[in-house]
Amino acid sequence: MQTFSIRSFSTPFDAAATRASIRAFLSEHQPPGRADDRCNSWAVPDKAFSQALARAGYVGMVWPKKYGGGEKHPLERYVVLEELLAAGAPVGMHWIADRQGGPLLLRYGTKEQCEHFMPAMARAELFTCIGMSEPGSGSDLASVRTRGKRDKNGWVINGQKVWTTNAHNAHYMIALVRTVEGSERQEGLTQFLIDLSLPGVTVRPIIDLVGGHDFNEVFLEDVIVPDDMRVGEEGHGWKQVTAELSLERSGPERYLSSLALLLEFIRVNSKSPSSQSKSLIGKLTAELWTLRQMSMSTAAKLADGEDPALEAAIVKDLGNSFEQELPRVLQASADCDLSSDTDFARALALLLQVSPSFSLRGGTREILRGIIARGLGLR
Ligand SMILES: Cc1cc2nc3c(=O)[nH]c(=O)nc-3n(C[C@H](O)[C@H](O)[C@H](O)COP(=O)(O)OP(=O)(O)OC[C@H]3O[C@@H](n4cnc5c(N)ncnc54)[C@H](O)[C@@H]3O)c2cc1C
Repeated sequence: MQTFSIRSFSTPFDAAATRASIRAFLSEHQPPGRADDRCNSWAVPDKAFSQALARAGYVGMVWPKKYGGGEKHPLERYVVLEELLAAGAPVGMHWIADRQGGPLLLRYGTKEQCEHFMPAMARAELFTCIGMSEPGSGSDLASVRTRGKRDKNGWVINGQKVWTTNAHNAHYMIALVRTVEGSERQEGLTQFLIDLSLPGVTVRPIIDLVGGHDFNEVFLEDVIVPDDMRVGEEGHGWKQVTAELSLERSGPERYLSSLALLLEFIRVNSKSPSSQSKSLIGKLTAELWTLRQMSMSTAAKLADGEDPALEAAIVKDLGNSFEQELPRVLQASADCDLSSDTDFARALALLLQVSPSFSLRGGTREILRGIIARGLGLR
């Protein structure tokens, strides 16, 4: 039976210097802010912040220099990401392009696509969103019905995407489309970069439980997409999409979304902590550190060119459980009045409402556990 193996790794760069430089950047560019502003910050878009980060070389860090990147080691990027998330920096605007858009093009795109899109992504001037889910096609992604038909101008695309995070700010949607008529399930799917300013594209907001506008519905009506916006070979979309999932599921964003609340709890209790608070802080920190080791080990495997899909699913499932449980555990311990005007109460109230979504985005708990069971050789 295969199990989670921790990969030991060395960092062929000066991790302390990287950490010091991103911390210096943060102290210069990040306003102090309240704890609730620092929660779930990878979903918070801020174009000016992303562009400042890009100017400092922290976007597209691992991409080739010829495409605007910094050719840094993937674990150096990991150090930067964990510092950004631990500080609650608003990185949502460029997150998808940096994590998935650029890597997708590098792996499957043409030289022209890389030259056209990646330098603008690395400058945080071009943003992308992910158009996979549709009404009725979430966990069962292979049932995607948005369809593309070839015509003399390229492709005519019709359909609807849903839960498309940041589509209202993004320039392009990386869309999964059924292009082979009569095809079923994983066959006949193709990925496209769809310019969201094209005629026939309508982006409608979906307002979430806390009144935020993060995700959208995207309607595609006879949208004409040139063939040079097709990413990879026709019909290979499923293989490409599933190859991205390890990148999407194993990073520090999968366990740090509630960290601001824990830090606030530690700050509030730092003067005279009860033995119960000390024990709770110890327990949560130990869990956090274990998750970090698992996530970094998975990042090291990715850096070595492996596809640790099983490990990524485990990191996401355990990480999401941690960041979902944290507000509930701290609420029980702190006996907090949620309407009180404190940083802790505001952050807690926010997380109690948004944290149910943590185990939905990027693949639900039940789906991940199916992957884990099959990965361990169980049927
Ligand atoms: C905050 C957030 C951001 C998102 N951003 C994006 C985005 O940018 N782009 C995008 O394409 N999508 C996005 N999504 C959508 C997300 O990928 C889907 O919500 C997710 O895949 C689940 O699909 P669904 O909502 O259709 O639920 P369903 O698939 O209908 O699932 C409903 C419930 O049934 C369970 N279930 C389903 N099938 C099975 C099964 N076979 N066995 C056991 N249980 C099962 C699920 O686990 C879940 O609990 C986002 C979602 C959220 C919450």
